Amino acid sequence: MSTPRFADFQRILFFTGAGLSAESGIPTYRGSGGIWAEYDYEDYACQRAFVRDPEKVWDFHDKRRAAVGACEPNDGHRIIAEVQRERAGTSVVTQNIDGLHQRSGATGVVELHGSLWRVRCDREHIVRDDTSVPMSPRKCSCGAYWRPDIVWFEDALDQRTLERAHELLASCDLLVSVGTSGVVYPAAELPRIAMRSGATTVEINLDDTPVSPLYQHRLRGTASDMLASMR
Ligand code: NAD
Repeated sequence: MSTPRFADFQRILFFTGAGLSAESGIPTYRGSGGIWAEYDYEDYACQRAFVRDPEKVWDFHDKRRAAVGACEPNDGHRIIAEVQRERAGTSVVTQNIDGLHQRSGATGVVELHGSLWRVRCDREHIVRDDTSVPMSPRKCSCGAYWRPDIVWFEDALDQRTLERAHELLASCDLLVSVGTSGVVYPAAELPRIAMRSGATTVEINLDDTPVSPLYQHRLRGTASDMLASMR
């Protein structure tokens, strides 16, 4: 089967994970150098930890902001943004929280797991963009702490964000899954929506994943090289 070309599709959906940002120098979740080997999420990345010690959780997220802020979008992000400029029906649904899609020029990105660059008042739930490093001030004018607007371990995904992702997946004619292990739920279930509605499906990854057999096309290599091969 020959590799599908972007030019042959109208409604392309890129479903991206940590592997897309690996070439920018951001470690993947499970790969070597991943933060969860070093930090226990129960101390740094769940609401219970935040309630117990918000300053400690913010110190950790300030380090993540500094590390991610020093990374640049890579060719994979750039190709996706270019395809979106060339083909109006293109959308991006990502599990990443790093903001690199937006920094490469992509628009309307559906961020399933939130963003490192947004904060939410822990009492009033107001959300705002914030790119300061370190994030300051840590408290909202109401007196409560801001918390990172990230889907932490044990948090539920935002319902409206999930619904938007469902809509886009149900109507795409090409699904390109890039750099995701396909095992973090419920995000991992989403590609099945496009499969059920008859989209052509492509998985880009360095290796096989538990969900590889579900895809019609499996491209093995780095995200940037494999995306370039679909031009
Ligand atoms: P994952 O770490 O579980 O899997 C990454 C996948 O990418 C693996 O299958 C790996 O083989 C593949 N990969 C690694 N380098 C690659 C490359 N250069 N080209 C192509 N593929 C490559 O990531 P996930 O499935 O996204 O799930 C992890 C969870 O942790 C998600 O919620 C994710 O948002 C979060 N996370 C986000 C970031 C980020 O924002 N950049 C980084 C780490 C983890």
